[in-house]
This record gives sequence, structure tokens and C-alpha cells, in this order.
Amino acid sequence: MSDTGEPHDFQQAVLLLEQEVQLLKERNLKLSQQLERQAQRHQEVERRLNLHPVSGLPTHYRMDQDVPLLLDKWKDQPDFTVAFLLIQLDSKFEMIKRTLKASVAEWILYQISERLREVTGETGWLYHTRDNEFLLIRPFRTQTELRILMKTVGAKIAEPHLFSGFNLMLGSHTGVSQFPADGFEKSALLHYADVALGYAQEQSQAVALYRADLEDRVIEKMELQNAIIKAIEAPALKEIGQQFELFFQPKLTLAARDDGRFRVEAVGAEMLMRWNHPTKGPIPPSRFIPVAEETGLIMPIGKWSLYQVVRKLRRWKTSSLKDVSVSINISPRQFRSSELVELLDRHVAEDISLASRLVLEVTETSLFEDPFVALESLTNFKRLGLKISVDDFGTGYSTLSHLHKFTLDEIKIDQSFVAGFPENAQDVAIIRSLVSIAKELNLNLVAEGVERMDQVTELYRLGCRTIQGYVTGKAMSEADLAVFVDNLAARDWILPS
Ligand code: C2E
Ligand code: CA
Ligand code: CA
Repeated sequence: MSDTGEPHDFQQAVLLLEQEVQLLKERNLKLSQQLERQAQRHQEVERRLNLHPVSGLPTHYRMDQDVPLLLDKWKDQPDFTVAFLLIQLDSKFEMIKRTLKASVAEWILYQISERLREVTGETGWLYHTRDNEFLLIRPFRTQTELRILMKTVGAKIAEPHLFSGFNLMLGSHTGVSQFPADGFEKSALLHYADVALGYAQEQSQAVALYRADLEDRVIEKMELQNAIIKAIEAPALKEIGQQFELFFQPKLTLAARDDGRFRVEAVGAEMLMRWNHPTKGPIPPSRFIPVAEETGLIMPIGKWSLYQVVRKLRRWKTSSLKDVSVSINISPRQFRSSELVELLDRHVAEDISLASRLVLEVTETSLFEDPFVALESLTNFKRLGLKISVDDFGTGYSTLSHLHKFTLDEIKIDQSFVAGFPENAQDVAIIRSLVSIAKELNLNLVAEGVERMDQVTELYRLGCRTIQGYVTGKAMSEADLAVFVDNLAARDWILPS
């Protein structure tokens, strides 16, 4: 047995232990440095999550954290009433974003946040929840006070923005829910404000207060859906026509004459569906088409109406309507499906002359939702020789710079830009830029919703020569369209002024 090895072993063990401790210390230091860096990164992410870069207002993320805490506090105050205002800028904002410089949109957002900050005051909370959306939360005492608050918000946003000599005007829609009348939870209050916002948008009103019956509309929608099913349930496709009817609205291409009047160079017609319900009476397409689209019922309705249009176009060949081309609205669901291409293919194969007289109106959303699918559908339509028109232009979310990727023939300026034309300088600016884009891409430009002759003159002066709207004619039956065209021919194609 040796006793000399022991101290040596012991020293070595201590050394080893010290080394280990040193290593641990170093690892610890590294770890804490790493943690510190992580914390900094975390702070930066937090800051970005918490504050909107343009307005500097707290974001949706912040709101998600704050509101439950606020609600918890208020629950114990029986008489405390709070309004939740969900404010959304209208489609003009999107249009400004796309047509004017980015700095203009940013500047407008900043201005609006400043105005809303003022309305929010010291007693409320304001969040910039999405690019075009704000949530304003403010306590109120009486319903009158709430009404005034709602009115002020709408009015503040609508005030013009003066921008290098331009008066830019912006609309908004606001949905309002109330704590505690509508609910105690964040999710309920936001949902109800959103339901009210949807209603305000649908009704084109600035502000709507949530009411329980707004949700009844969902039930009404289901009833409508059942009625559509009944209407198209008829054994033969042809019999859908017992309730549905095709109307046509003239779309005229003009040329100015020396005497200041206009000559009609070409007549087109947009087919618009009418539904005469046996007990409910006429139901406008703005109500049943969205339901039909949502439920897929648009497919049999679309198939039937295309069949009808084709039959009519064939009949028109030997009548005064022989040169009239027909535009058909193609809903997003139809646009995506291969069924439509197959149907059109069959119709065109039977009568090749149809192709040059059919225009398909597709929405901007159809094109840009899935550009690859859209490209394929468009290629198929173009292969058949059909014309493609982009409907409601300016209301979707497309970027003008991507328009050239598609082979198109026409764009239709949405009615909302025509309604305030030419009084509203912003509408003038937007239409001007659409004229130059159409020219550049060699597209026909149509203004729809034109109601007055002075609008026709001004649109023509800016370079938009195809007009559709009440000024030249409302949607009418096939027989009335024939009379309309005959009358024009009798006047030597001069537009009545
Ligand atoms: P849209 O394609 O934008 O059609 C234009 C709408 O504006 C029509 O309403 C038309 O009557 C209306 N309008 C035309 N000129 C004026 C005017 O000067 N002033 C005003 N205030 N309004 C004018 P309508 O017929 O109620 O159709 C509404 C929408 O329903 C259409 O909008 C279209 O999106 C859809 N729709 C109609 N028929 C069909 C169809 O057969 N298939 C599909 N997929 N959609 C359809
Ligand atoms: Ca249309
Ligand atoms: Ca339209």
C-alpha cells in the first residue's frame, strides 16, 4: 500500500475541479451574453410588434394584450359603458396606394391617426390594427354622447387632405359595439363591431351600431339560398328561365362631332340577371349573386345564362342587333373552374362567329387572387378568341404594375370613381391615371355608372370613350334593347344630348 500517491492524486483532483469550474464560468458568461443578445432582439421584435411603423400607434398585437386587462377592470364597475369603434378606410385608400406615390398613402395614414388621436383624447385607447383599420375604444355616458362620437369619427376621416395642391378625400366605414350591452369579452365585442362594420359597408353608410337583428341577416341569406335552389331545381335547365330573366344595359363607344354632339361608333350590352321570385317579387342581383357565388349555385345559373346569351346572339344575327356584342359577368368561382372553358369551347365550336361578339367581365380579385390559375383561364379564353374585360376596376387589391402580365382587352372603371366625377379632384386624378394606363397597355377603357351628360363630355375629354350608365340607358329587356338600337339608327347614330 503506498501513501505517497494520495496528496498527488488530491492535488490533481483539485486542479481538475478548478478547470471544470473555470469552464463552467466561461460557459455561463457565454450563456448570459447570449441571453442578453436574445433579450435585445426580443425587445426590438416587441417594439415592432407593438407600434405601427407609419402611425406610431399601438398595433393589433398590443390590443390583444391590453383589452382583456381593461375589460377585467371594467367588469367591476356596473355603470361604466364603453364604445368599441372598428374603423376601416374605404377602397379609395387602396386606390391611392396603388396610383399615387407611397409617401402620399403614408402621409394620409399619419394624418388620419392624428385626427383619431384627437377624438380618442385622454380617456380612450386607439390602435392601428391593420393597414387600413383602426380600433378606437372610448368610454361614454349617454347614447347621445355615443352618437356624437360616431359622427365625429366619420366626419374627421372625411375631411379633405390637402396634398400639393390636390384635395384628396377619403371615406370610411365604422362598426360599433358597446360594453357591457353587447358583451363582456374581447372576442364578442370585436365580433359585433365587425358585424356592424360589414353592415355599414353593405349599406354604404359611414357608421353602423351593432344590433342583434344584424345577425338575422345571416338567416335571411340561408333562406335566399334555399329559394335559389328551388328556382333552379326544375328538371330541365331551360326552365330556370321561369324565374330568372336576362336584361341588357347598353355600353356605347362614342366619337365627338364638330357640333359638340356624339356619334355612337359601337354598341355593346352588358347582360345583367334579374330574378322574379314568385312570392318575394323582384330580387336584385346585388343580393342573390353573392349568395349564389358563396354556395356554388352560381355554376348552374351561369351555365343557363350563357346558354341563353348564345341563343340570343344567334338570333340577333338576322336582326338590328347583329352588331351588338354582349358582356357577361363571370364570377370568381366560374372563372376558376374548367367547366366554363369547356362550355364556351363547345358553344364556339358550334358557331365560330360567337367568339368575336362575347366579352367576359372578370373581377380584379379573380385575376390577382391566384395569378397562375388566372393566367391559365385567360389563356384558354383567349385561345377561343374571346375578349376579356376587368370589371369594377380599382376596388380590388391588384397592383397596376402587374396588369400587363395578363392579356386583356378592356378595363371598366368602377362606378364609385365615376359617381363623384368630375367634382371630386381625387376621382379626376384616378380616372386620369387609368386613361394613361389603358393607353399604354392598349386597352379599351369603359366608365360605368355614368349618369349625366356633363360626365360623358368630361370623360371623353380625358380620353375615356366608352360609356355605360343611366345617362344612355338602364338595363332593359331584349325587346327594349332592339327598340333602343333602332332608335339610335333612326337618329343616324347621334346620341341625344
Ligand atoms: P356590375 O357588373 O358592376 O353591373 C353594373 C351594375 O350597376 C348593374 O346593377 C347596373 O344596373 C348598375 N348601374 C348601371 N348604370 C348605372 C348608373 O348610371 N347608376 C347607378 N347607380 N347604377 C348603375 P345590377 O344589375 O343590380 O347588378 C349588380 C351586380 O350583380 C353586377 O354588378 C354584377 O356584379 C352582378 N351580376 C348581375 N348579373 C350577373 C350575372 O348574370 N352573373 C354574375 N356572375 N353576376 C351578375
Ligand atoms: Ca359587370
Ligand atoms: Ca362593374
